[in-house]
Amino acid sequence: IKKVAAIPVALYGGRHAVTMLPGGGIGPELMGYVREVFKYAGAPVDFEVVEIGDENTDLEYALTSIKRNGVAIKGNIETKSESASVVSRNVAIRNELDLFVNVLHCKSYPGVPARQKDIDIVIIRQNTEGEYAMLEHESVDGVIESMKVVTTSNSDRVARFAFEYAKKNGRKKVTTIHKANIMKLSDGLFLETSKRIAKDYPEIEHNDMIIDNCCMQLVSKPHQFDVMIMTNLYGSIVSNVVCGLIGGAGLLSGKNYGDHYAIFEPGTRNTGTAIAGKNIANPIAMLSASVAMLKHLGHTQHAELIQRAIEKTICEEKIHTPDLGGTAKSTDVVQRIIDNILQADIRPW
Ligand code: ADP
Ligand code: MG
Repeated sequence: IKKVAAIPVALYGGRHAVTMLPGGGIGPELMGYVREVFKYAGAPVDFEVVEIGDENTDLEYALTSIKRNGVAIKGNIETKSESASVVSRNVAIRNELDLFVNVLHCKSYPGVPARQKDIDIVIIRQNTEGEYAMLEHESVDGVIESMKVVTTSNSDRVARFAFEYAKKNGRKKVTTIHKANIMKLSDGLFLETSKRIAKDYPEIEHNDMIIDNCCMQLVSKPHQFDVMIMTNLYGSIVSNVVCGLIGGAGLLSGKNYGDHYAIFEPGTRNTGTAIAGKNIANPIAMLSASVAMLKHLGHTQHAELIQRAIEKTICEEKIHTPDLGGTAKSTDVVQRIIDNILQADIRPW
């Protein structure tokens, strides 16, 4: 099997260059926290910050930078225009870099108040086609057609990625989520492909579930799920459901992979415009994204140092922002994480 997202070779001195796309809303403040934490953790990463405004050249430059560095950390870029000709730059980046799979590991943090406890679900989402093909048109007045694109090649890659992930991480079951009873051709192909790939992994159980039943099961009996695979839009919705079950938009991070590039970002991909600049955004989702990025680059010790400091802060000391029912400011949480990094027994340097 081909390795997904080739890992860039470190620059002189073992440092990596990483593209930072702060995006809109709370993105810039969260990136500021990542930089602070990296400074105290001594993480060997240099950020190339690319602001994406409204110019097309901004997007071009961002893509050039990611292609050069191989890895990016990203906030959500707001699409202000509702005109059909203005495409979401978030989608454009994923499509242009062929980041065909999104991985969201939804694992409960003990000690963080949540609707469900001890959840450990991995959502693996097709990330570049399906309902996000952006092929919509008005065929005649008052009739809109919107195309959902499912291909054998991408369904195959996602399914293979999921089973390989399950195998490498000691997971027991993969569930394909679909609506093949209605969308017989598109979801039918996605489902059939995953069944075919499943045959190569007899040690991993495979089953499937219709998306509507899946939503009910997730809310009532979420512990039955292990690894899940699905097309793009179901992935977006299911990701938000599971994040909501275990702590909301501010807690988890997501990973986007292609054969050549990787992008790390908060799991629910929200802009958080309404809470920007108020010092209340939960910094954990973006910090987790930065931990995942360090692991991807092979800086395992730095990743663990930061991860442990996060866990100590939110699980043991229970320093929580308002979204988790706490009263701490974003900066209180970050300060505590930095204190915990500085007090850690084992440091990578
Ligand atoms: P979208 O970008 O899809 O419009 P929003 O930005 O409105 O979504 O975010 C959805 C919800 O999640 C909002 O209530 C927002 O306040 C909340 N949210 C998103 N990110 C965070 C965060 N880091 N900390 C706390 N709340 C967050
Ligand atoms: Mg918003």
